[in-house]
Amino acid sequence: MSRYVEVILPLALDRTYTYAIEDEQLQVGCRVEVSFGRHKRYTALVTKVHDEKPDYDIKSIENSIDTEPIVDVVHMQFWLWIAQYYMSTIGEVMKAALPSALLLENQTIMRLKNPDWRTQSQLDEKSYLLCEALEKTELSLGDIAQFLEVKNPIKIASKLIEQNLIERKDIVVDKYKVKFEEFVGLTDEKELTSYLEMVHRAPAQRSLLMSFFQLRRDADQIPVKSLLKVAGTSRTILKQLVKKNIFYIEEIEKSRILFDDRAAEFLFELTQDQRLAYDKILLAFAQKRNALFQAVSGSGKSVVYMQLAEHFLQRKKHVLILTPELSLSAELFSRFVKRFPNQCLLYNSKRSSSELVEIWKTINASDEAFIVIGTRSSVFLPFKNLGLVVVDEEHEQSYKQQDPSPRYHARDAALYLSKMLNASALLGTATPSFDVFWKANRKDETQNKFAKVSLDVSYSRRPRTGIYLVDLKSAYKKKQMQGVFSRELLSKVDEVLANGNQVLFFQNRKGYASFMQCNSCGHSPECPNCDVKLTFYQHRQALMCHYCGFEEGIKRSCSVCKSDQIDYKGIGVEQIQMQLKELYPDHTIERFDRSSSSRKDSGMKIIEAFNSNEIHMLVGTQVLSRGIDFLNVGLVAVINVDQLLFNQDYRAHEWAFQRLIQLAGRAGRSDSVEGNAMLYAQSFDTHHPVLQWAVDYNLNAITSSELNERIQFQYPPHVKIIRIQTKSKNFETNLRAAQYLVAAYKRIPGINVLGPQAPAVSRIRNWYLQNIIIKIHKERNLLDLRKQLKRMENSFNAIGTFQGVRLAYHIDHI
Ligand SMILES: [Zn+2]
Ligand SMILES: [Zn+2]
Repeated sequence: MSRYVEVILPLALDRTYTYAIEDEQLQVGCRVEVSFGRHKRYTALVTKVHDEKPDYDIKSIENSIDTEPIVDVVHMQFWLWIAQYYMSTIGEVMKAALPSALLLENQTIMRLKNPDWRTQSQLDEKSYLLCEALEKTELSLGDIAQFLEVKNPIKIASKLIEQNLIERKDIVVDKYKVKFEEFVGLTDEKELTSYLEMVHRAPAQRSLLMSFFQLRRDADQIPVKSLLKVAGTSRTILKQLVKKNIFYIEEIEKSRILFDDRAAEFLFELTQDQRLAYDKILLAFAQKRNALFQAVSGSGKSVVYMQLAEHFLQRKKHVLILTPELSLSAELFSRFVKRFPNQCLLYNSKRSSSELVEIWKTINASDEAFIVIGTRSSVFLPFKNLGLVVVDEEHEQSYKQQDPSPRYHARDAALYLSKMLNASALLGTATPSFDVFWKANRKDETQNKFAKVSLDVSYSRRPRTGIYLVDLKSAYKKKQMQGVFSRELLSKVDEVLANGNQVLFFQNRKGYASFMQCNSCGHSPECPNCDVKLTFYQHRQALMCHYCGFEEGIKRSCSVCKSDQIDYKGIGVEQIQMQLKELYPDHTIERFDRSSSSRKDSGMKIIEAFNSNEIHMLVGTQVLSRGIDFLNVGLVAVINVDQLLFNQDYRAHEWAFQRLIQLAGRAGRSDSVEGNAMLYAQSFDTHHPVLQWAVDYNLNAITSSELNERIQFQYPPHVKIIRIQTKSKNFETNLRAAQYLVAAYKRIPGINVLGPQAPAVSRIRNWYLQNIIIKIHKERNLLDLRKQLKRMENSFNAIGTFQGVRLAYHIDHI
């Protein structure tokens, strides 16, 4: 009997496709290789096995890849929820969910078709070289590009295909390779004495053999690598011993996941406050509620996480800890691994794709319970027995995926997942997002799914960081400025440095200057691909675009009027670092921004160097504020806090408040600061209510004020928001498309449609952008609305003039 499977393809397709199978064993959740379209082959995932023959011609699958499922039905339902809720396709969700190495890659290779190609036609030099190379081996397009040093190898190849000299073949390439390690062992244990005799006259071989005895202890085999290292000899000597049949070498599959084999060293007792919070959290979980864990900086939030993790591990349940960004996950991991050396896994994009596959497979197959610490995509790991999800720093915006689709919010997805898997969820932060705060404060018990647990040790152990404002208006007027620093601020810097503590400087601008401007004609160099001015980087001597990565060398004169009167506007972190170096020539001053924190390991290295006092002052952008544990900071200096308040988003005040409190939390985390930790924020508008609330740490006041405003102006959590972004390479087409959509959306009842409006940066990578906002009343059925929007997209796509326009849906978040 013929059987069929439904599969998901890793493409932006909204449905599954049917293929025939012969493999009777094939299960749901296994990968198969299929051909789709004219040439292409893909890794697809089986979602259903059945025997209903479709009434159209179908292909058979090419190969089955797995014998055991790599993901179960429950997780596929989770994918489906993501696809529906965030208006993406199931194929895109699969692509985001699986480690890329599990999706075999489609690759086009070229091979020689006509062995008499030399006699066939006149070939230009490149074509000749290519045919000659293909005589020896098949080549991928990438290989050809490299070999011929051309950008567009397909051009040369297609000409040769037309001439029937070569042909193309599509293959899939498995990116995941099992790692092997070479081991060496004795061929025959009983021949020891004769072996020693055999190497009697060869001192190098003899010493290698002796090192082997030394190293192996009880094991039969030892890794070749460690043997050669200990013996200090080369591989040639080892080969001679293999040739004499004394040693044999064997390749053994090796896991890339390395567990720390040290014993747990970080053992602790919870303080009374922590114990109380811990008990309250477990009580909430027992009542089937999640918890908002509002813990001030320095109160030992992660110690409570550890205790909770232990609770669930003892019950053989997995624990997932989400962090909003890379360096935070690495930092948290480094602390957890001391406590749970054999049960911690780190899942983030810094790990190799093969390591990610092995973690995936371990979670999928092992009966043991683990703690996984990871960024956004770890919500997709195939947990079967998930006990607890912790979303650390839940207020961070980076939990929301921007591009590509699925544009999911990892915190909200994690909450949904925990509900599906019957796990408990804990949202931890010192500064709750106002949405979550509102949810946790609902009076209606039946609606309130969150218990609120707070941890505030600052009163008992050390006072929290004092927040002070410096009035820039008066400092300028009284001529009390040195560069960008007020004298008041500098005197605090001196004081803190004299006490042997460190200073953090925060400025939310990268580079040296936000832009360059000609003083004669006013011209500023702009990005050719985006609607922004180029940022000036002193250390690279270059102008760069943050949106597309465009870079050009700086020019000494204006490209328009040739004047050499060039000015720098908008002070970036580089310039602050430079000014500080002039003011404090005897101190070490480093920069910590996104570019330094995303380079492999260098972010962690800077933090380590800073924490070991090799660096006295650190200048950084907003990555500084993200929950990193700095040990010895006495002062946080915010160069210009007003920048935080100028933002078009309705959450600008919320974010500014969170940023300030988080920055303040970076100071005073050790006893060496002795309760004198300070944050100084320079501002032209010191009476701004948000700044005053921050000075008072008054979360209740700012949330009630902001949430009231959101009622008045119809913003979440009182309504739902979908932002739809249109983009096109043509400005006019894009605008017309957006206007068309607005008109169409306005016919849908129960929603308010705003726009179209161009975003602040209205062109990125040569794509013109328009935003449309849809506000949805709470009672409106969302599933139905999404379907309606999708239907409208379909008819929109059928309009010829709008062919090149793309739509992106951003659910919940602007
Ligand atoms: Zn000029
Ligand atoms: Zn650009």
